[in-house]
Amino acid sequence: MLDQLKSVLQEHKLKATNQRLTLLEYMMSHDTHPTAEMIHNDLPDISLATVYNTLEKFVNAKLVVVIEGISDGKRHYDAAAHPHYHVINTNTNEIIDAANFDPAPLIKAAQAATGLKITEYRIDLYGVKPED
Ligand SMILES: [Zn+2]
Repeated sequence: MLDQLKSVLQEHKLKATNQRLTLLEYMMSHDTHPTAEMIHNDLPDISLATVYNTLEKFVNAKLVVVIEGISDGKRHYDAAAHPHYHVINTNTNEIIDAANFDPAPLIKAAQAATGLKITEYRIDLYGVKPED
């Protein structure tokens, strides 16, 4: 696992420091869409500033994606390992993973409409429980 994480960092041109390895492992093993504060609470040995700066490096390297627009006003982070979309419960701010969606027709339609080659996509849906 450690060797695998090291090579992931190296492939993305990031030096494999212990803190980066710890944070990458955390992101790969949590599907809770944490904020930097939540991660710092779980990993108090890594300063909040380091957590934040490292996450931003991961975002630039496309190892991690940011989920914004949650009404708590915070940046939430998600490992970019497998394609999925998010459904956000606007009453609780819970970010729920869902994968039962084939983006191919949407990507094709977007290409047809614009002539652009689509290189990435992000889909966030918002909702409430009917009984809320
Ligand atoms: Zn997710």
